[in-house]
Amino acid sequence: MTDWSSQQNTLKARRAELMGEIAGIEDALDDPAPKDWEEAASERQGDEVLTALGIHDAAEIRRIDAALARIAEGSYGTCVTCGAQIGAARLDTLPDTPFCISCA
Ligand SMILES: [Zn+2]
Repeated sequence: MTDWSSQQNTLKARRAELMGEIAGIEDALDDPAPKDWEEAASERQGDEVLTALGIHDAAEIRRIDAALARIAEGSYGTCVTCGAQIGAARLDTLPDTPFCISCA
């Protein structure tokens, strides 16, 4: 059985980083709306950017969780589409990818 501990550590570290980012985003979104109209408009715009960023982060966390689950069940490193082995270099760069280079 392949030892995926380095990928596992990378995935866990990235997950912790994303969780911290999401917590920061939620704090920023909780800020009370400013009274000034112009300021309120730019705050709303900022909130949209923050929300989009949060959605992006949440999607990455789901991919990381899925990858960690594949490590746990022993299917990690195998393409979910064609069943081919995913290259080690590819897994080093994209540890959360479930696809081999030809299915990506
Ligand atoms: Zn494939």
